[in-house]
Amino acid sequence: MTTSEKLQIVDHCEECGGELIQGQSVWKVGENLLCTRACMLNYVGAVTITAGEE
Ligand SMILES: [Zn+2]
Repeated sequence: MTTSEKLQIVDHCEECGGELIQGQSVWKVGENLLCTRACMLNYVGAVTITAGEE
């Protein structure tokens, strides 16, 4: 690893605790940041179902 390629960790995912790198595209819910759509959906408790079937 060279110093020029050193990644700057700016925050952590609220769901999985994963590192969020400066410049990374992340999800924001309120003031909380999530690393992926899957983490965001888990965090807010959203699940996919089939309409009409429960
Ligand atoms: Zn995450």
